[in-house]
Amino acid sequence: MLPTLTTLQKRKPHIYDPSWPCPQCNSSPETLNHLWTCPYILPEFSPFNTFKTLLLDLRTVCLEKFLSATPLKPLLDSFVAEFTALDCWDCDPPSPSYLGLTRGLIPISLTGFLGTYFSSSVIWSILDTPLHDFHFDLYVQIWLCCSVFFHHWESAQGITNKMKSSSVGPSPTLRPSSQISPDFLTPPVRISRKKNTIKLSYAWHITSCKKVWTGTNSPSK
Ligand SMILES: [Zn+2]
Repeated sequence: MLPTLTTLQKRKPHIYDPSWPCPQCNSSPETLNHLWTCPYILPEFSPFNTFKTLLLDLRTVCLEKFLSATPLKPLLDSFVAEFTALDCWDCDPPSPSYLGLTRGLIPISLTGFLGTYFSSSVIWSILDTPLHDFHFDLYVQIWLCCSVFFHHWESAQGITNKMKSSSVGPSPTLRPSSQISPDFLTPPVRISRKKNTIKLSYAWHITSCKKVWTGTNSPSK
């Protein structure tokens, strides 16, 4: 799990006050979903604006690839309109399918629709690379920027690396040593974790996509 502020607040409430909202917009808790939908006041730095742009790019790239692929049966005239109207592209407000894409979950609505025209191997081969690129861009364009911002925000709060590496909290009796998780002992420095985060997210993305793909989400239904 990405070390969002809400995660850090659960791990180290003596450093990260549980009442602190997202430091970028000051309006909501910084959860995983909020990371991609934060309405930061400066448009050029708004994660939500960036996310919407990346998602629409993903939709365009996928649509072009499917239009040039070999279908099982001729595409109906309504194919483009139906594809672009799928709920996974709904940004305002963000649909569950839309947020699921950030976690590598391919919506049933998408695979179900495509499955009426294409074989599962064609669908998977087309979605694979654009989704991979989408996740890479999410982490580079949103997560990395948020991490840089967060690092400066921590400094402004007087939170030092020494404090973060300390396992001593105000209520040690609540955390007997045998129950302290490795995560609790690891300094939650978000930038230094980034490379591993990307690798982990890729592995997780591919695994979860294939899990959905081979599960009840068969496009042949
Ligand atoms: Zn925010």
